[in-house]
Amino acid sequence: MASRNETILLVEDDETLRFGLTDKLALEGYTVQSASTGEEGLKFTEEGPPDLAILDIGLPGMSGLEVLSRLRERPESFPVILLTARAGEGDKVLGLELGADDYITKPFGVRELIARVRAHLRRERRDRSSGDLNAVDDEGPKSLNKVTFGGLEIDFDGYVFYREGTEQSLSNLEWKIFELLIRERGKTVSRERFLREIWGYDRLPVTRTVDFHMSRLRQKIEANPKNPTYLKTVHGIGYRFDVP
Ligand code: CA
Repeated sequence: MASRNETILLVEDDETLRFGLTDKLALEGYTVQSASTGEEGLKFTEEGPPDLAILDIGLPGMSGLEVLSRLRERPESFPVILLTARAGEGDKVLGLELGADDYITKPFGVRELIARVRAHLRRERRDRSSGDLNAVDDEGPKSLNKVTFGGLEIDFDGYVFYREGTEQSLSNLEWKIFELLIRERGKTVSRERFLREIWGYDRLPVTRTVDFHMSRLRQKIEANPKNPTYLKTVHGIGYRFDVP
């Protein structure tokens, strides 16, 4: 992947880690905006958004989660990876709710982080050049446009979704997941396939990201998320969208 000139915002207060990551990312050809506090990090974004942000959650002063919500107020969307402490399980969930795309738990290998950075940037580039998910399908692109299942009305062009007449708002990631589920309706889609097609991973990380986002999506799709009509879990494999 030599398509560089991409800017990465890195906010990390641990100096050793920050220097180490800055060096490695620069060696990979990225322009690194390296900050030790959230305030400093946000300053960089006044000039324009980065292509990707890596945020430590535990920062002095403004926390990484606050930085994340400020970044998510911006109109541009770009991937955000959170660095979390092993103890910060709740922060991780909150971070994903606030719109982070991924997290990595400390201590981690720098190569692992770089692999994820690459994967996220690759997905962004692909999305920008191919008009989102319509490009990835074994049987060629299928346009979904507007579809209705039972009480669900989904407009994939306008990104509008109604459940029983009430509009539900979905995040960018949730739209992508929803679209893949519906294109493959009636068939089980594995967690690995979601990670590959939605998150762009080649090598599969150990992550509960898919399950987390599925449960969020289920809250919006299902009248009773505990006893879902549409979005079924296929234990040990993945998920299936059933048309009743
Ligand atoms: Ca820290």
